[in-house]
Amino acid sequence: MLEIRDLHASYGHGDVLHGLNLSIETGSVTALLGANGAGKSTVMRAISGLMKPTRGEIRYEGQDISGMGAERVVRRGLALVPEGRKVFAPLSVAENLEMGAFQYLIKRDATRYHTQLEFVLELFPKLKERLPQTAGTLSGGEQQMLAIGRALMSAPKMLLLDEPSMGLAPLVVKQIFETLSELSGKGMTIFICEQNSEVTLRHANYGYVIESGRLVLSGNAKELLADARVKEAYLGG
Ligand code: ATP
Repeated sequence: MLEIRDLHASYGHGDVLHGLNLSIETGSVTALLGANGAGKSTVMRAISGLMKPTRGEIRYEGQDISGMGAERVVRRGLALVPEGRKVFAPLSVAENLEMGAFQYLIKRDATRYHTQLEFVLELFPKLKERLPQTAGTLSGGEQQMLAIGRALMSAPKMLLLDEPSMGLAPLVVKQIFETLSELSGKGMTIFICEQNSEVTLRHANYGYVIESGRLVLSGNAKELLADARVKEAYLGG
């Protein structure tokens, strides 16, 4: 579904991605692992159109989308759940969800909006109870649910998640990953970048490990979980 070839990206002072290659199968849960600063968020930004790669290709459903711009990328069915959730704190839960649907709300497509809203509220019943509540007053876990819900409101075919476990208690992390598995069971293609390698690999089919913007390991999630190098570097020995 997504093929990344020779991806280079820079913030102006030399490349932080040095020719990454990876691919994501339709319907899979794929993990991108690496330490702080390895370049995971940069990969997510490049795919979602928030930054233009300096070199390389990002092919989505056979078409090169590199440098296409975030709005067009969302319209093609790719939605990002950003690092740190970035909910609109002063707005209500309902308004945050509406923001995720703006591309078809501006076309006054109310049917699609209600279908998608129903889907999201069924997945996250907690959000249903809190629709009028200000997003900034939600717990961290609820804000993460809202950030995922907002992304799902665009009716994506593929969901990109940038460190969804960040700052959350283990039990909440477990719930979030269980929901991602449920979504995967409904046919969603999922690409997650994480520092929390163990829980991610337990819920993934395939994984890539990057260091300083370069791919160092890749394989089936089960194999990576058992790999001594992964254990030592990312799973606490
Ligand atoms: P983290 O877990 O901290 O989010 P990461 O693996 O997602 O780490 P990136 O955020 O992609 O890593 O960062 C890769 C490199 O790019 C790092 O060296 C980082 O300092 C640098 N970098 C990231 N964002 C910027 C920016 N806006 N301007 C300049 N350099 C940046």
